[in-house]
Amino acid sequence: MPHEIPPRSGTAFLLQRGRRLAVIDPRGEQVADLLAFNHDDPGEAISSGRTFDYASKIYLTAGDPLYSNRSNIMLDIVEDSVGRHDFLLTPCSKDTFRIIYGDEDPHRGCFGNLAAALAPYGISEDMIPTAFNCFMNVPVDGKSGKLTVEPPLSKAGDRIVFEARMDLIIGLTACSALQSNNGSFKPIHWQID
Ligand SMILES: [Zn+2]
Repeated sequence: MPHEIPPRSGTAFLLQRGRRLAVIDPRGEQVADLLAFNHDDPGEAISSGRTFDYASKIYLTAGDPLYSNRSNIMLDIVEDSVGRHDFLLTPCSKDTFRIIYGDEDPHRGCFGNLAAALAPYGISEDMIPTAFNCFMNVPVDGKSGKLTVEPPLSKAGDRIVFEARMDLIIGLTACSALQSNNGSFKPIHWQID
């Protein structure tokens, strides 16, 4: 049975090298922010910039590796039933909701949820990089570079599966931003095989 992350919350757990992590969208149109840190040295973390450099593209899917800030492969994407994820935008946060939505009493967002879940592993807020945003749909205009946050393309039961290439600390959320999730907050499921 998969684990469930309730709406607008997050968790952290260990993923051993060689194990597979499935991130599942049980109802459809729900984003999950994923972070990875080297278990033996959490100063090594997932890096969007390194990954884009080596992939020469910004949309990643099955067959693509996700690199660390030290240019080691942390995870391979081994299955993907959606084919559209985002690796450009930072985890939603109090500041996201204040600046973009004008909330006066903002939710702590994926950033706050990740920081709380990762604190017991010795990972502080300033160590949190851009997350791999499973199912997030951010089309980019190729000429102007303008980007928009659109509803996820994921349907109920869609999944993306990662295989760990080193022992990892994983942070994972059910995203808290209205716009990213087509206006409603839903759970995320995950499972290690
Ligand atoms: Zn979020």
